[in-house]
Amino acid sequence: MKNRKINLEEREIPESWYNIVADMPNKPLPPLNPGTLEPLGPEALAPLFPEALIKQEMTTDKWVTIPDEVRNMYSIWRPTPMYRAYGLEKALDTPAKIYYKYEGVSPSGSHKPNTAIPQAYYNKQEGVKRITTETGAGQWGSALSFACQHFGIECDVYMVRLSYNDKPYRKMMMNTWGANVYPSPSDRTAAGRKILAEYPDSPGSLGIAISEAVEMAATREDTKYALGSVLNHVKLHQTIIGLEAIKQMEKAGSDLPDIVIAPFGGGSNFAGLSFPFLRLNLEGGKKIRCIASEPASCPKLTRGVFRYDFGDTAGMTPLLPMYTLGHDFIPAPIHAGGLRYHGAGVIVSQLLKDNLIEAQSHDNLEIFEAGVLFARAEGIIPAPEANHGIATAIKEAKICKEEGVSKTILFNLCGHGNFDMKAYDDYFSGKIKSHELSQEEIDKSIAKLNTPTIPA
Ligand SMILES: *Cc1c(COP(=O)(O)O)cnc(C)c1O
Repeated sequence: MKNRKINLEEREIPESWYNIVADMPNKPLPPLNPGTLEPLGPEALAPLFPEALIKQEMTTDKWVTIPDEVRNMYSIWRPTPMYRAYGLEKALDTPAKIYYKYEGVSPSGSHKPNTAIPQAYYNKQEGVKRITTETGAGQWGSALSFACQHFGIECDVYMVRLSYNDKPYRKMMMNTWGANVYPSPSDRTAAGRKILAEYPDSPGSLGIAISEAVEMAATREDTKYALGSVLNHVKLHQTIIGLEAIKQMEKAGSDLPDIVIAPFGGGSNFAGLSFPFLRLNLEGGKKIRCIASEPASCPKLTRGVFRYDFGDTAGMTPLLPMYTLGHDFIPAPIHAGGLRYHGAGVIVSQLLKDNLIEAQSHDNLEIFEAGVLFARAEGIIPAPEANHGIATAIKEAKICKEEGVSKTILFNLCGHGNFDMKAYDDYFSGKIKSHELSQEEIDKSIAKLNTPTIPA
């Protein structure tokens, strides 16, 4: 096979992904069958995912080889750049050294293709003709469209109708890469038709779109489903980010970071940057703090409960042991669409339970202040999701200033915001408001759960 541009060795693209499960002191609890409450076997996932991905979902091997064809595709935009944020350091007048890893240079503009490419590859290997998925803000749908186009797989994206109407450019990107994009709820599935019969003007939701995509995959022989966050194999693929970052920091002769930060939706880009650094803690006795940054309006890590819950709103998925706000918690319609998810991935949840990672939440207004400060200091306009990580980095850099200590901070700039200018416009015109989520709202949503609890 011919390599793109420069040979892979020269580009220093890692040869394996890192699986943190191998090093975890407490392994994640198994997913449960919601009917029997028995641990779920791999066969339960077979209608939805190719065998290779199910194997990766369950593996305890420490390293998983990245296929050459995947590395070759990665070489279009990887290794992604790592920058020292001199401009931001100056703006904050902090003694902290701030670095960021920039995932916005991928073709679709975020970290999502890191997993879309291998997912499409393994589906292709197993003869899958079509992949269905859902997309909210459009980042995942565009990454998967790009990946499927390369491997000659048909891609059907169910896009939440509200975003379909509000974010036409994301839809056009998907069409450019050859995908079919359907506003959800649609009349193509039983799930969609049922909603439309009741609410003809339904704006849709991620939960409904998942139901439609899963139904299409489950009922067609040649079709599988793909998910862009939460699952173990997705986190595994994203570790390419942190593995590169460690090499880049070594090469630059910089100290290892004291603090590693990433925004948190379902946990994939946080896992991607932080797990290779956590390995240094687990294996080498280092004490690097890893902080997940979530919106104050969807605070599953900082204010949720650790128990079994469904991964989707309709309650169709297996039960997963995770931090959750309850599967029918509806977060406020903040612009960081990628972070509006009620739960957290299983591995990340166990790590938080064991105090091996930390979490912080930030208010809607604070994250746009942080994003605009960053854009003016560093030039890149961040995705609203990415602004959460920046807000945590700024907060930690300010603490360094107050305490007069210099720490090294690394955060993940997981995507650019070039298609999110409406969100910035709303911020500049004063339409973005602080949102206080009351304890009562959280308690109400959690009280509705009748899923198994997990003993402390
Ligand atoms: C999807 C997305 C997220 C949230 O997903 P994670 O799995 O938590 O990484 C965050 N930022 C961007 C830019 C995204 O596209």
